[in-house]
Amino acid sequence: MKSSKRKRLSMHELSVCQGLMRQVEQVAANNNAKSVKRILLRVGGLSGVEPSLLQSAFEIARAGTIAEHAELEIEDGPIVVKCQECGASSAAKLNRLLCQYCGEWRVNVVEGEELLLLSMDIETAQSAAEESRHV
Ligand SMILES: [Zn+2]
Repeated sequence: MKSSKRKRLSMHELSVCQGLMRQVEQVAANNNAKSVKRILLRVGGLSGVEPSLLQSAFEIARAGTIAEHAELEIEDGPIVVKCQECGASSAAKLNRLLCQYCGEWRVNVVEGEELLLLSMDIETAQSAAEESRHV
């Protein structure tokens, strides 16, 4: 039996990160970025992604990309459900997916499963002077 690795790494988070890197490179290319400094990502509470595992996976996925020296900041996204009984939308907790208004448990998740690239800080070299931009 092999000894366990020093760092936990999940294949799921790694593949999520690789998808993220494709988005990041696309946005960077659209904005003539020279490098990416910071990435702000919203992770929904129901996305099935573990933020700490995502951080470790990011350190691997960023290697050799335009975001090689970027920091990943993760923001917790809200969980919102829509009630099948009264039709109201309300905020819910991960282990308590109920309508806040009538207590109904038959609800549809309308927000919370997404992974969203919110913004990036990039460096461009359009003129002689380097410029930092928030995109
Ligand atoms: Zn309701």
